[in-house]
Order: sequence, then C-alpha cells, then structure tokens
Amino acid sequence: LLAPPVQRLVTELGKLPGIGQRTAQRLAFHLLRVDAEEAGALADAIRDVKAQIRECEICFNLADEARCRICQDERRDPAVICVVEEFGDVLPIERTHEFRGRYHVLGGALSPIDGVDPEDLHLAELYRRVEQSSPPVREVVIATNPTTTGEATALHIAGVLRERAPEVAVTRLASGLPVGGDLEYADEVTLGRAFAGRRAL
Ligand SMILES: [Zn+2]
Repeated sequence: LLAPPVQRLVTELGKLPGIGQRTAQRLAFHLLRVDAEEAGALADAIRDVKAQIRECEICFNLADEARCRICQDERRDPAVICVVEEFGDVLPIERTHEFRGRYHVLGGALSPIDGVDPEDLHLAELYRRVEQSSPPVREVVIATNPTTTGEATALHIAGVLRERAPEVAVTRLASGLPVGGDLEYADEVTLGRAFAGRRAL
C-alpha cells in the first residue's frame, strides 16, 4: 500500500527496540511531514555516531577518541573497576554518584545456550587489566544484570579472579535490584543503594 521508499523507512524504524509496526508508521509519517533539513539532521546524527564512535581501548565503553572520557579522567580511581554487561549500563551507575572508579564493559553476558562463551566477551582483557594494572587494582565490582546469565557471568569472573588475582577483592551489587531486571532500567535510588551495599562474592 505504501510507496516503496516509505515502506523501506517503516521497515527500518520497525527494527528499533520497542517500536512496533504502528509506531514505525507514525514516525515515518512524521518524518514525511517535517522539512528536509530536520529529517536530514536525524539521518546525519545516525551516520556521524556510526562513523565517530568506537570502543575505548581500555574499558570498551563508548568513546570518540582512543580512550573514553572516564579512562581519561585522572580523578577517577583506577584501582576500582566496575564490570558491566553493556555500555548502556554505565550511565545509570554514573547517575547514582556512588562510584568514582573505572569501568569494564563486557559486551554481553555468558550464555552457553545462545552460544555466548567467555571468548565472546571482553573477559581476557579484564583479567589482563587486573593483573597488569599500576597502581594495582584493589577491587572489582561486578555489576552484571540480576538475571540468570548475569549471575553466571559474575560467578565465572569471581572464580577466575580468585585464581589469577587472589589479592583483589571481588564484590557484587547488593540485592534489592529487581530480579530478572535490567540494570539499565533500575532507578537511581535503588541502584545507588545496591552499589553502596555491595558485598564480597
Ligand atoms: Zn574507557
């Protein structure tokens, strides 16, 4: 029913998370109504972000230079590393103002059923970082999601670090986060409390 270019836009928008067919159509019709400049600004923003944003060479957070802003920030404690699944988890933790260390973004969680094995995540880089850090790493806070895969990942990391870096304290966020939920959607107060109350793993 739709002209092919419009259908193509609807199809692309419909691939976005949380966007159903109807919303995709509504957004497409909105973009058809606005002037070319405004629609172009959206297209440019998408193109630029894909061209300019990469993974930080140390922590795999989003960066527009070789190192992300947090890794470049001298005031951030390099002796404490917070491990998260996705770069989308960094911002909610930053908003709690409970954490002044650095991050390590794994790029997912272990899930053998889905074919996600240790070598598919940035785990080797984490262990190397912990072993070679100067000043030495004092604590690794594991802030993977409170889901089955997030918990399995936390236990896996704790096990390896116990072997390879026994002097490093490994902690996990306190319970209180909605089980099965995603860190990304936790409210600041709950997340801040979970952070402050972290315990040894
Ligand atoms: Zn970084």
